[in-house]
Amino acid sequence: MSVLVVGSLALDSIETPFGAVKDAVGGSATYISAAASYFVNPIRLVGVVGGDFPREGMAFLEERKVDLEGLEIIKDGKTFRWAGRYHYDLNERDTLYTDLNVFERFDPKIPEKFRKTRNVCLGNIDPVLQRKVLLQMDNPRLVVCDTMNYWINGKRADLEETLKMINVLILNDSEARLLSKEPNLIKAAKVIRGMGPSVVIIKKGEHGALLLTEQMVFSAPAYPMENIFDPTGAGDSFAGGFIGWLARTEDMSEENLKRAVIYGSTLASFCVEKFGVEGLSDLAYLSIQDRFREFRELSRFDED
Ligand code: AMP
Repeated sequence: MSVLVVGSLALDSIETPFGAVKDAVGGSATYISAAASYFVNPIRLVGVVGGDFPREGMAFLEERKVDLEGLEIIKDGKTFRWAGRYHYDLNERDTLYTDLNVFERFDPKIPEKFRKTRNVCLGNIDPVLQRKVLLQMDNPRLVVCDTMNYWINGKRADLEETLKMINVLILNDSEARLLSKEPNLIKAAKVIRGMGPSVVIIKKGEHGALLLTEQMVFSAPAYPMENIFDPTGAGDSFAGGFIGWLARTEDMSEENLKRAVIYGSTLASFCVEKFGVEGLSDLAYLSIQDRFREFRELSRFDED
């Protein structure tokens, strides 16, 4: 029932129209682990930080009961840093800088006791590292992978190798177009499925998400939010909620994949209500359930 998460642990500097923070705890693995931890325990994290990663970052993960045995701490190294600026339209984001730092020489080693984990979530990091993780795993049942334009542009051949080894790829609409070289999202998903994953999820920011398999297209609405403070981590929280639900239920049927997409959207909606990881720090399971149900009402209508 556990999930292994590999991804970045970061110090993020974020500017939104509502405020700015410098060196806030973030990273794909941090958001994914926190979101998934509402569904399954333990979450097994694999990643690397420098000696400058703050105590509060560790405390946040420990409180979410994340097993940190696979977290390498390079005392004289610097943590991965990323900076982004959101436009007035929060779907638009510019990356200001990406400093890989300790990730440049990271060579992930999966602790023995993590290797049989049945569910693996490859957060957004170098696809070479994602593959190195998979090669050490003992036949996982489900591999969910996230990526972004930085790697599609910079490491396409390596990413294509990784895609051959996964079940589900999660990416946003512009990334799907970039990866497939196809402007139409339905056709783009077909091209991407041809690269390996049998399930593709295309996120469309505040417009919801598409779940595409060979047999179906499911369009999930987005939660209509009045207060979005910081969209950072929305995609990772989505991935965490998605794999967390699938790991908890161990059911890969189409209906349950749809539920997992809605749980992913639910966790993403909590994430963006506050700055950084705060939105995922202390959620009641009941409020997750309530919001999940609200999603159903959003697009339910009678035939006559
Ligand atoms: P999201 O908003 O879900 O796309 O994810 C934002 C998180 O991804 C931030 O916390 C960043 O630290 C992290 N991130 C951004 N760019 C990269 C990258 N190239 N590699 C790994 N993590 C990244």
